[in-house]
Amino acid sequence: MLKSDIKYLKGVGPKKKELLKREIGVESYLDLLYHFPFRYIDRTKIYTIAQIEPTMQYIQLRGKIGKIQIVGERRAKRLIAKFWDSSGTIDLVFFRRVKSIAQWLKPNVEYILFGKPTIFGNSYNIVHPELELVSERSSHFVGNMMGVYPSTERLKSNALGNREITRLISSLLQLTSPYLIDRLPASIIAQKKLLSYRESLNTIHFPKDNNSLLNAQFRLKFQELLLLQIHLLRQKKIREQKSAGIVMKKVDKHFNFFYSALPFELTEAQKRVIKEIRSDLLSGVQMNRLLQGDVGSGKTMVAILTALLAIDNGYQASIMAPTEVLATQHYYGNREKLSAAGVESALLTGSTTKKEREVIFEALKNGELHLLFGTHALIEDGVEFHNLGFAVIDEQHRFGVEQRAKLWNKGRELPHILVMSATPIPRTLAMTLFGDLDISVIDQLPPGRKEVTTIHATDHRRDRIDKFLKEQIDKGRQVFIVYPLIKESEKMDYKNLQEGYLSIVEKFKAPKYITAVVHGQQKSKDKAHDMELFASGRAHILVSTSVIEVGVDIPNATVMVIESAERFGLSQLHQLRGRVGRGSEESWCILMTGEKLSSDSRKRVELMCSTNDGFELAEADLRLRGPGNMEGTQQSGLPVNLKISNLSKDGIILEEARATALQILKDDPSLQKEENRGVKISLEEYVDKRGEFSQIS
Ligand code: ADP
Ligand code: MG
Repeated sequence: MLKSDIKYLKGVGPKKKELLKREIGVESYLDLLYHFPFRYIDRTKIYTIAQIEPTMQYIQLRGKIGKIQIVGERRAKRLIAKFWDSSGTIDLVFFRRVKSIAQWLKPNVEYILFGKPTIFGNSYNIVHPELELVSERSSHFVGNMMGVYPSTERLKSNALGNREITRLISSLLQLTSPYLIDRLPASIIAQKKLLSYRESLNTIHFPKDNNSLLNAQFRLKFQELLLLQIHLLRQKKIREQKSAGIVMKKVDKHFNFFYSALPFELTEAQKRVIKEIRSDLLSGVQMNRLLQGDVGSGKTMVAILTALLAIDNGYQASIMAPTEVLATQHYYGNREKLSAAGVESALLTGSTTKKEREVIFEALKNGELHLLFGTHALIEDGVEFHNLGFAVIDEQHRFGVEQRAKLWNKGRELPHILVMSATPIPRTLAMTLFGDLDISVIDQLPPGRKEVTTIHATDHRRDRIDKFLKEQIDKGRQVFIVYPLIKESEKMDYKNLQEGYLSIVEKFKAPKYITAVVHGQQKSKDKAHDMELFASGRAHILVSTSVIEVGVDIPNATVMVIESAERFGLSQLHQLRGRVGRGSEESWCILMTGEKLSSDSRKRVELMCSTNDGFELAEADLRLRGPGNMEGTQQSGLPVNLKISNLSKDGIILEEARATALQILKDDPSLQKEENRGVKISLEEYVDKRGEFSQIS
């Protein structure tokens, strides 16, 4: 019944069905029941025309139709009707169904009008308002709140405006009422004091008051998130059962030597994470762990130490980075210390020569090589390990799911996987995106890190900024200058970078000031050369595209200048900022923007200036842009199309749902019990509908 084609609902039919499907994705009865209002208006509130203000959304007016006029020809043809009340008049404009509307409008009777005023010239008009005779005012509403549904112009102008949708839903609720049966176990409904399913759906469309609306929303969100969590937890279980993990018991000479040679003490957070990983390695189950930590929190160090554990147990390890610059830096930054600890390591990237490659492949295959650093070159065909036991993926969001799977197949046994991300995905979102991964968090920076002072500046302060950069360089510090690189305008971006570079060289004259430049259009030899120039301290300034975004570690750099900062997203800005403030000196991040900023860009810049906390920024980002668009999550993609829950706002409900999911599964792991039958059926439908879902992560 609930799955019936929406065209069979009285008042819909095949033509309107097509529209509903195309415009709002509604194909079945259930889809329409789940087409929820995005806001509610107070039905008792009726404005007068004189009260209209530019910021108003949907409002109700009460008045009569005056003169009706049809103006314009063909496509420009429209109907303009005067609508008046005791305070004034306003124009109503209709572009479609002009003739039938003209016939249907009655002069001199009272209407309630529902619509959104727009400014036109210096007066207001309302396009395709909905009109209802006061005498016939519909009785769909039990209370005083009226739902406003997401809609489109097309729907509105084809007799599927708010009023019609409301009517359809009202009759659909009556029609389907016997079928709106609770699928959650009675015990959970009682425990959580949930409204019944039927009542929730009725209430969310036609709330009596705000309180019952909140209850209805809670019930539906809870149900949605509960199913999601049960699904994810079961996936995780299945994977654990399938995936016996290599047991790595030993902590031996490689680890101990390297560890005791470290010039610093690990932070408590690092130690905790290593313990968590250790217990995974002992568990007999394959590890799939996501390690989150702000930039500079010392994730790479954790990765290397864990790799050493694998090596101590006779296995090989690999660390894969998203860019060549970063892979190179990981390698050269650790090679000597590793070698001192008796670990053979190598670097494999796109620019490794054929000859070097052969040597590496050979050593990898016969097991002489213990640790391989690299870019995605290391998951390509032809790369064969002797016995890969542990694989790290740094900055996970840059790699697709597929690439991860490839890595799994590199070992003879299933390697343990550690995915690292500096994109601080808020916990609520992480729980959903990676519900079947275990999560570790490094929530502490190594001691002695200074907060980076962030400043916003525009071009007219450029001279002062240059002066400041010179002062810093004269003190022996180094400076990053980063330009955006966005695919669509790549050519222009390179031009900007070239020009920027030339103007820097002009202003910061050699030999006193040496400027290096790194970008994607260079040969990798040139790139490596300039990178090395900067890393070794011989160059004072590094001009680059955002390739340095991830991971680059130059403690002596104290200033990060970001050009056209308005073009970067929040988390990218934060990542870039994380390149400085790694040493003991005071550091700055300077956000250069144009004078005019959109309100979103302004918010981003202000946020950056107000906090150094990556998680705070990520939460804000989530609020600003919604989870689907959050940087770092596009690739993994939100596995579900949540109908009512909002991960950025419903974190508390999500946690509650997760706890309940754990409770249900603990009691009845395979959902065999009668009282969980409804849940089981829902899950089957749910997974059925999105076949790809089970493969995510
Ligand atoms: P991430 O990968 O999380 O951005 P890294 O592992 O690159 O961070 O660490 C950043 C810098 O901090 C590196 O120079 C690293 O050697 C150093 N570092 C790591 N852990 C510590 C620690 N416990 N104390 C001091 N410095 C540390
Ligand atoms: Mg890193």
